[in-house]
Amino acid sequence: MQIANDEGLVCATCHLALTPTQVSVSYMGSAFPVELPCCPGCGLIYVPESLASGKMLQVEQALEDK
Ligand SMILES: [Zn+2]
Repeated sequence: MQIANDEGLVCATCHLALTPTQVSVSYMGSAFPVELPCCPGCGLIYVPESLASGKMLQVEQALEDK
């Protein structure tokens, strides 16, 4: 599953294209894998606004699919 449309995202520090990387996200007491854009240079993970704002809309949908 992929939350962000990471086309064209570039790390502001390394100027490297962010690549989708699977990470764990915690929500409502459970952790589950999510694919987020990650910088191959410094390891920065880009958190989409939908995650940062706490909406977690896509994550909730993913849980319902199980
Ligand atoms: Zn970087």
